[in-house]
Amino acid sequence: KESRAMKFQRQHMDPGGPSNNSNYCNQMMRRRHMTEGRCKPVNTFIHEPLVDVQAICLQGNITCKNGQPNCHKSSSSMKITDCRVTSGSKYPNCAYRTSQKERHIIVACEGNPYVPVHFDASV
Ligand code: ADP
Repeated sequence: KESRAMKFQRQHMDPGGPSNNSNYCNQMMRRRHMTEGRCKPVNTFIHEPLVDVQAICLQGNITCKNGQPNCHKSSSSMKITDCRVTSGSKYPNCAYRTSQKERHIIVACEGNPYVPVHFDASV
């Protein structure tokens, strides 16, 4: 079974990216299996080395959007791509708007080793 840590990597890690194209989210949301059963409405890909993203779990501890205390904010800004489903998108034809950004990111961490399991926000 896929662990929460592996699911985080599948949904959010793309260290080699972004390919500089407006189809990035259409391709990646499908390739990473987030368009099965429904179109996942919003999702962020992170274009930084995995070790740098894992290290966020050791950085500033903050409260998550859901009130849990296990969120951490990156001390550096990171290259990310936000994917948001378009208003006209109709499952199973999931269509996304692609926006590249450079932001501090907030992830929730869990377990031993204490690693990212959820993408909470970018600021
Ligand atoms: P994401 O939220 O990264 O888009 P999912 O919703 O698929 O992805 O998975 C989030 C996972 O992280 C769930 O298994 C959830 O239980 C876990 N989790 C741990 N801590 C938190 C938290 N503080 N907020 C939200 N989810 C959390």
